[in-house]
Amino acid sequence: MKALVKSRDSRGLWLEEVPEPELGINDVKVRVLLTGICGTDLHIYEWDAWAKSTIPVPMVIGHEFVGEVVAVGSNVADFQPGELVSGEGHVICGRCRNCLAGRRHLCAHTQGVGVNRAGAFAEYIVLPMTNIWRHDPKVKPEIAAIFDPLGNAVHTALSFPVLGEDVLVTGAGPIGIMAAAVARHAGARHVVITDLNPYRLALAAKIGVTAAVNPQVTSVNDVQKQLGMQEGFDVGLEMSGNPAAFREMLANMSHGAKIAMLGIPAAEMAIDWHQVIFSMLTIKGIYGREMYETWYKMTVMLECGLDISPVITHRLSYRDYEEGFEAMRSGNCGKVILDWREQELGGVHVAVQRSLASFTT
Ligand code: NAD
Ligand code: ZN
Repeated sequence: MKALVKSRDSRGLWLEEVPEPELGINDVKVRVLLTGICGTDLHIYEWDAWAKSTIPVPMVIGHEFVGEVVAVGSNVADFQPGELVSGEGHVICGRCRNCLAGRRHLCAHTQGVGVNRAGAFAEYIVLPMTNIWRHDPKVKPEIAAIFDPLGNAVHTALSFPVLGEDVLVTGAGPIGIMAAAVARHAGARHVVITDLNPYRLALAAKIGVTAAVNPQVTSVNDVQKQLGMQEGFDVGLEMSGNPAAFREMLANMSHGAKIAMLGIPAAEMAIDWHQVIFSMLTIKGIYGREMYETWYKMTVMLECGLDISPVITHRLSYRDYEEGFEAMRSGNCGKVILDWREQELGGVHVAVQRSLASFTT
């Protein structure tokens, strides 16, 4: 099968022929239809220090996908060929204290799909049945393809109650924008999002935030004044990984405010701990999604009108992955989708419509 492989110990990603993954008795085999490019995939492409020390070569990468079940292992009773599914990107151990207690998202030994085990940028992926999420037929396939990052956004945005609260989101990357949409959907009063990139601020504005702000032009404190806010933001969603953004967030929170941190700083970051202590802040780290409460919430919020479709800005064939990664590198994009619905017929590449014809688009 064709796959995007980190096959060399150097910068880049290569479209190669690799063997199809083997199906174990507890596994589900999925034909991949659409995939999303994640920032993690870009790190792996660029081969930065984290990627070099984490990814064994060769590795089929990618973890955001939607596909069609094509085969199930002999132990699998719950999934049938033809179903539209995505995969939870964290494969848990099932044996640690948290796993045994049912807190699977807190597993101490998760493996990352497309990081520590073969990923989704391929014609087929095999995952344990416990990692498969069957989509509601009402969910559009290209939205289903980004349930993984939408799940990051939902997990973060719903970490603390936002009904009637003022929410500050730092970082208008795809996840920050989706988190802002979720906070809005969940009943926040003001949702203010910050970024330095005008393209991303414009994209955030499309999703219906109260204000999309470049903090180098207008300080968050000034935004508070413009909105008539008195005591600071009640909930912060840190989605940039940028120390300056986090520090500005800390300086603009109300007493007793809550902060959920998803953004991954590149290095240690110093903050003024007095702000945490004397404002009595709660800071919660977020990793991945809750299995599977986050997936359930995504499905029902989409059913109830949550619209994140503007966040998808690029739709490309998997063959044009270099263009997709270039868009990611530039920052002038939201989610970039790669389409794998293609097969070779007599040497001609023909888009296969069949696979999605039966699903709502
Ligand atoms: P992204 O890199 O596309 O978005 C980050 C945004 O922050 C960019 O648009 C950037 O311009 C902006 N930014 C940079 N400096 C800023 C500043 N000073 N003020 C405001 N904004 C600033 O990333 P993404 O895919 O949207 O993901 C968001 C973050 O979450 C990233 O740090 C990513 O690594 C992290 N992440 C964490 C998890 C997890 O499970 N914890 C999962 C996925 C992604
Ligand atoms: Zn575990």
